[in-house]
Amino acid sequence: MPSVFIKTYGCQMNERDSEAVAAQLVAKGWSLAKTETAADVVLLNTCSVRDFAEQKAINKMQNLVGAARNQQRTQIVGFMGCMAQSRGRELIDQLPDVDLVLGTQKFHRAAEYLDALLAGKREKIVDVAAEAKSEATIREHLLNGSAKTSVSAFVSIMQGCNQHCTFCIVPATRGEERSRTIPDIVAECRELVARGVKEITLLGQIVTSYGRREKRDEWQVMRDLGAEPLVTHHSSRVTPFVQLLEAVHEIEGLERIRFTSPHPKGYGDDLVEAYARLPKLCESAHLPLQSGSDRILKLMRRGYTREKFLGIVEKLRRARPGIGITTDIIAGFPGETEEDFELTLSLCREVQFDNAYIFKYSPRRDTPAAAMPDQVPQKIREERNERLLNLVNEIAARKYDAFIGRQVEILVEGPSKKNPARYTGRTRCNRIVLFEGSARHQGQLMDVKIERTGSFTLYGDPAILE
Ligand code: SAM
Repeated sequence: MPSVFIKTYGCQMNERDSEAVAAQLVAKGWSLAKTETAADVVLLNTCSVRDFAEQKAINKMQNLVGAARNQQRTQIVGFMGCMAQSRGRELIDQLPDVDLVLGTQKFHRAAEYLDALLAGKREKIVDVAAEAKSEATIREHLLNGSAKTSVSAFVSIMQGCNQHCTFCIVPATRGEERSRTIPDIVAECRELVARGVKEITLLGQIVTSYGRREKRDEWQVMRDLGAEPLVTHHSSRVTPFVQLLEAVHEIEGLERIRFTSPHPKGYGDDLVEAYARLPKLCESAHLPLQSGSDRILKLMRRGYTREKFLGIVEKLRRARPGIGITTDIIAGFPGETEEDFELTLSLCREVQFDNAYIFKYSPRRDTPAAAMPDQVPQKIREERNERLLNLVNEIAARKYDAFIGRQVEILVEGPSKKNPARYTGRTRCNRIVLFEGSARHQGQLMDVKIERTGSFTLYGDPAILE
């Protein structure tokens, strides 16, 4: 049987899609190659959020086909995911050695298409069409006994995004929001827990919008029929996303629930209260800010103000003291003045984020922001990116230092990749902890005392407690 090597660019959703494709192929008898040169098939699962990510994947493909040609190896190569979706056949026009271009609603067809290519039945395949119910096809997992996957798993709950922020290409690459049903997601989570998983992260482009569209459609149909809407779970007072959290929370044996990526608008009172009443929901929240200036937030079409954002942070901290709050920020959005940027810096000082992902604005094709006047020169984008990074790293380091001497609960994932003598675990507020561990700690929930900190890492000692 053939072997495959999959390289993934971008977010956790992409990681999850790659895992589902790998699991699909393994179930058909394929093996997972250790290196790209040893593989019969190499797939690049791509990201389009910034131009840099697209260029990296294109360069990688050029290197792959160049090396295969030089070494006279025959290898099937393909792009899948977001860039495959947005560029389609154009990728084969640019790189004629590419055999497969598989869009974001077609991951489940990978095995069928690769078989056809390997058998020589088809020469090139490009499939980026929309497919109804494709959101329910990212389901299979690679629980191959490897330490990490057996303790913690990602579950895709929905696809697509309807937010249409002016900077973002995701609605074009992932399509309209489509959600899986609660029973289907819960069944997948139950299977994972039965296989030893203790922590589940619910995934989607905007998870807090989960089920909204379906619910509305359902409402409409029921109203047309003159009836009350169907209730998907026991509590109709809350949003479908919180209903889903409640349903997953009931799974016996599951210890921790996380989710990503949400939208600040989605942190209504029902979700904030969920943090207070669902103990398995970990005290960690990602709140993508993007900018601290109301003027820029409006140009970005984010749907909240600085004041509203600060209000959400305050409510979350009241509901769950000690909650870890992380964010995404874009530096140098079109029209951003020094004054707007200072407002972002001041908001970071005020909130004291536990961690922040800083991105230089990257113009994306067919997005409104790319055509806006007053594009910020690259040099200024870089300089603001640097200033913001320095500030958020300084705040984060201080927050890490505050852990020294404290006792924290960690879920042990397995040996550290860099130093297998050390084991790695995660706190409930999503910080990595390294400690001198052994196989008996694997998969355990345990307390450690934090002794020192490193760069975005805590070093703990379970022995002191024992
Ligand atoms: N749920 C998130 C939200 O509320 O916006 C969206 C996740 S997005 C795929 C990941 C991050 O990439 C965004 O939060 C944003 O900071 C960044 N991003 C998206 N488009 C970008 C662009 N054109 N340039 C730079 N960064 C961008």
